[in-house]
Amino acid sequence: MSIQNPVFIPGPTNIPESLRKACDMPTIDHRSSLFAEILPPVLAGVKRVLKTETGEAIIFPGSGTGGWEAALSNTLSPGDKVLAADFGMFSRKWIDMCRRHGLEVQVVEAPWGAALPVGEFAAILAADTEHQIRAVLGTHNETATGVRSDIGGLRAAMDAAGHPALLFVDGVSSIASMDFRMDDWGVDVAITGSQKGFMLPAGLAVVGVSRKAIAAMETARLPRFYFDFRDMLAMNPASGYPYTPVVGLLNGLKAAIAMIEAEGLDAVFARHHHIAEGVREAVRAWGLPFCATAPESYSDTVTAIVMPEGIDGNAFVAHAEKRYGVSYGAGLGAVAGKVFRIGHLGQLTETQALAGIATAEMAMADLGIGIAPGSGVAAAQLFYRSSPVLAQRVAAE
Ligand SMILES: *Cc1c(COP(=O)(O)O)cnc(C)c1O
Repeated sequence: MSIQNPVFIPGPTNIPESLRKACDMPTIDHRSSLFAEILPPVLAGVKRVLKTETGEAIIFPGSGTGGWEAALSNTLSPGDKVLAADFGMFSRKWIDMCRRHGLEVQVVEAPWGAALPVGEFAAILAADTEHQIRAVLGTHNETATGVRSDIGGLRAAMDAAGHPALLFVDGVSSIASMDFRMDDWGVDVAITGSQKGFMLPAGLAVVGVSRKAIAAMETARLPRFYFDFRDMLAMNPASGYPYTPVVGLLNGLKAAIAMIEAEGLDAVFARHHHIAEGVREAVRAWGLPFCATAPESYSDTVTAIVMPEGIDGNAFVAHAEKRYGVSYGAGLGAVAGKVFRIGHLGQLTETQALAGIATAEMAMADLGIGIAPGSGVAAAQLFYRSSPVLAQRVAAE
């Protein structure tokens, strides 16, 4: 059976046809002038999407996880102390990576479903008068729980404490889908991958680095080679690359940025919010709780939904995939089996979202979950029809 349904996982996301074509290139010599038509506009475009004028964009072959490693290994030394919160699978894995690199991690445990505990971070930073903490880690959008955290607030807390630590932000499931302000928030390393908001196949780690991070790389002693900022920063200005670049994906990224900017960054964020609100209306109609506990931290790119007692979220995900050929996100880590997730980022329309909601209803009904089929769809329809966001956009085109 050949199934071409959209996926409703929070990455990799659905790839628009034009971007698939942009990635499909004949071989070019990356040391020729042809590559100079690709790399410079990509780097400039990534800086615009990250909202940095003072920082630099660096793109490695890899994925978001590679971006995490680049952030740590380029700026820190063995034994350095970092501050992080464990409040979801992705923040937890980044902590694990820190430890495997010989860093000392001060971990703040927070409930899975809550946002990054900015108040606790503020108190810890204020108490760290000797400035032992070298870096603060923040997961902007915890994809496991569907929680967006307040990175601007985290920056304000660091400033209020007068703390000089570096700020690393995992924006893998927020950048290019939700507002991200690298310069305003004083982010020293911002990280994403190609397969989420940029709507491309996996294969690139997209990183923004501040002047402060660039200065830190001169003294950092963690070993790195493939992910060394220094080689990239030395060669990129002349469109050079320290090894063979993933040319097709970089060309795809050039096209993705053009697509995002043709829609307008703010319009992209508004569309994500609008689609997400419709999904949330559906979940409310089902009467199922959100994993995210505070409405102000609801994510516009992924919704994690708590299953009724006795229902295994993973069984739901497996059934929807097998019976309807539609993928939803499974629960991860501490919420494995307890939640399922609807990814709604990247190239997504109201129509696609409605299909995802409708199919989730069928799968839940099949499993005997007591929701009324059609209830979520009706709630989302009502929301989409009465909210003018996309209608205005279409009219303007
Ligand atoms: C997907 C994701 C990652 C992991 O990225 P990979 O590209 O799979 O390496 C890290 N953090 C967050 C928040 C993510 O959503």
